[in-house]
Amino acid sequence: MPIYDYFCNDCRKSFELVLTLKEHDAEKIKCPKCGGKNVEQAAASFFAVTSKKS
Ligand SMILES: [Zn+2]
Repeated sequence: MPIYDYFCNDCRKSFELVLTLKEHDAEKIKCPKCGGKNVEQAAASFFAVTSKKS
């Protein structure tokens, strides 16, 4: 699962979200801390957490 790094400009916190590509494309990202939408994507760490695929 792709993990996206975001930074909230409202509460000045970075957070990670695991999103599907569909969710990511929708661009309705909200900060989980303050619920604001003033967030920007910092980086995309695809498959940063590796696990054995079945
Ligand atoms: Zn926030």
